[in-house]
Amino acid sequence: MPTTSPFTKRTWQNRVFVDLSPVASIVFLVAVSAIGAAADERVLDARMHHIRFGETREWSEFSPQAEADELALEFAADTAVATETTLRIRHRDVKQTWQLELNGKSLGRLPVDENLMVTYWAVPPSLIRAGVNRLRIHGSGKSSDDVLLGDVCWDDRPRAVVLSEAKLEVRVVDADNSHLTPARITIVDSSGALVSTGATSAGKLAVRPGIVFTADGTATIPLPSGRYRVYAGRGFEYSVAEAAVELRPGESNPLQLAIRREVPTAGYAACDTHCHTFTFSRHGDATIEERMVTLAAEGVEIPIATDHNVQVDYAEPAKRLGVDRYFTPITGNEVTTKFGHFNVFPLEPGPSSIDPTGADWPTIFAAIRPGVAGRFVVLNHARDIHSGYRPFDPSRHIGPAGERLDGWNLEANLIEVVNSGTTQSDGLQLFHDWFGLLNRGLRIVPVGTSDSHDVARHFVGHARTYVRCDDRDAGAIPLDEFYRNLAAGRVLVSYGLLADLQIADRYSAGDLVPAATPLRVRLRVLGPHWATASKVTLYADGVAIREFKIDERKTAAPTGVKWDHEFVLERPRHDVFLSAIAVGAGVRKPYWPTPKPYQPTSPDWTPYSLAGTGAVMIDIDGDGRFTCAREYAERVVAKTKGDFSALFTALTNYDEATAIQGASLSAAAGHSLFGDELRKPLSAAPTNVRRGFQRYLEAWRESRTAQSSQ
Ligand SMILES: [Zn+2]
Ligand SMILES: [Zn+2]
Repeated sequence: MPTTSPFTKRTWQNRVFVDLSPVASIVFLVAVSAIGAAADERVLDARMHHIRFGETREWSEFSPQAEADELALEFAADTAVATETTLRIRHRDVKQTWQLELNGKSLGRLPVDENLMVTYWAVPPSLIRAGVNRLRIHGSGKSSDDVLLGDVCWDDRPRAVVLSEAKLEVRVVDADNSHLTPARITIVDSSGALVSTGATSAGKLAVRPGIVFTADGTATIPLPSGRYRVYAGRGFEYSVAEAAVELRPGESNPLQLAIRREVPTAGYAACDTHCHTFTFSRHGDATIEERMVTLAAEGVEIPIATDHNVQVDYAEPAKRLGVDRYFTPITGNEVTTKFGHFNVFPLEPGPSSIDPTGADWPTIFAAIRPGVAGRFVVLNHARDIHSGYRPFDPSRHIGPAGERLDGWNLEANLIEVVNSGTTQSDGLQLFHDWFGLLNRGLRIVPVGTSDSHDVARHFVGHARTYVRCDDRDAGAIPLDEFYRNLAAGRVLVSYGLLADLQIADRYSAGDLVPAATPLRVRLRVLGPHWATASKVTLYADGVAIREFKIDERKTAAPTGVKWDHEFVLERPRHDVFLSAIAVGAGVRKPYWPTPKPYQPTSPDWTPYSLAGTGAVMIDIDGDGRFTCAREYAERVVAKTKGDFSALFTALTNYDEATAIQGASLSAAAGHSLFGDELRKPLSAAPTNVRRGFQRYLEAWRESRTAQSSQ
């Protein structure tokens, strides 16, 4: 126990580090003069501490050993406190529940947000004692959480007074027409931490620490005095404007920021097929009003309301908040079952019209009735576990072959390949899953979605889908055209970048390129100036065939275009689908930060941006339709009747994807893939065949391992 007496009047800087207990909580002892001192703010602990809740290290960027499993601070008040005072705390990487406690009473929970933040907490006078006071911040939850906590200060004044020392009057205008525009305003301190403001969510504002979404381009933002960096932006397509400001107590500072649309997306509507509200889903934190503001401020032109097992109409609240000219809403439903989540739209507003209680996919899809009234069905976050079930768990799904092992047919026509609320450690995994399904013969279209339940943490429209249609009037997008093109796969998936693939200047995602068309490929990567692209890969039947490094310093592309390149593709021997995927570094800046993975499969993390095109089908054999890899494989496998030598010879002229399907069909026909009759001829087979069979065998073994560990 500490022996230094902390109670000397006004010796608050007398600080002693004490390691009190075997569980290694950290205790600081600080003497504080609570009232009447010249300075309003006392530093209780200037350092940041690495604290870990749970047994295992969450991220490799943290050291293997945390300093402690909770933060505990003791400080002495030399007299009782009569009015509300304020605690300021800095925190980063908060993912689980972290309770803030003073003398055993809760002051609240830290916001669940991994970004670096400074938040302010009201302390009722009844919670402060004359003498020793104990502040604790401790975690709980399902999995380990590494966090940084510290920089704790105590301010004599009430929270509202601290947060309104000064004022910022922000106007965000569109530089192209000088009109006020909906926007996201981000405010950070000199260390880049999002800072709590005195603004509150109401009317046309949606507010979280350091972030103010405005539906009309204006915001009055009370703030503690100090130096800040202020950013304004409007989602993926817009520039980001920034300014450094210094606010003095009592001052009101006007600030105008001008942004402009940089990414050329005319003819494509920005759609987010996965939007939630706290109001109707009862988790996350965005009210229906805040959702309207954030949709306008992130530039989502077609939001699809998909709260869990309820069918919400955004039209009325959008009109009420005056944002109905910024988007054309669609009512949907995240049909939330024990065997996966499926977004279904369009639906009539009201309670769920779909029974989510089915005990298997056939029953669930019978309730969803795909195709009825032009219904779209999205397979959501197929690699995540919910209610103990992962739709694409290797035990029931062989990804490279798009093969189900449980006999349940996937009756979805859309699949999430990026979900920014639940990103994967391997950002390409779900793209490869989609490739496998196309090779299997499913007609299924990729989408990017946000799954946003929140205002700021996982914001709406972060991942999104550009669907070809007339988007000149965002408030009245022709939905017939939108549905037709979405069904056809005329889509570009965006997560911080956008990629476009054109053949012979005429055909792009969702199109069938007629036989004999010259395969002149134009590949473009788009993005705002604050995004970076590093590589774009062209895939044929899901197999990488061309890869281009992008060095933006060397491209003289206009603003909004990162890379633009034309080349002639060697003619494949059979029908293939083409798709391009661009990757780049993620965004570390606070105005649009790339989130960490949701259910990580690795402690290592490098933020990434992604873009993928829908599939362009190439008709090579001239039958006027697209023939998938499985159809070719069926013909070959039927002819060779289990003779692997003959099969490999016949597959020579086909691609790796066809070989994968050939392996899958051979296994389904009962031919052993592990005997000498396969091994010997396979070692002599051409590369595409060998690779295809090996990829299938690896995935098959992974499935067996997963099954046996269940
Ligand atoms: Zn879900
Ligand atoms: Zn969801």
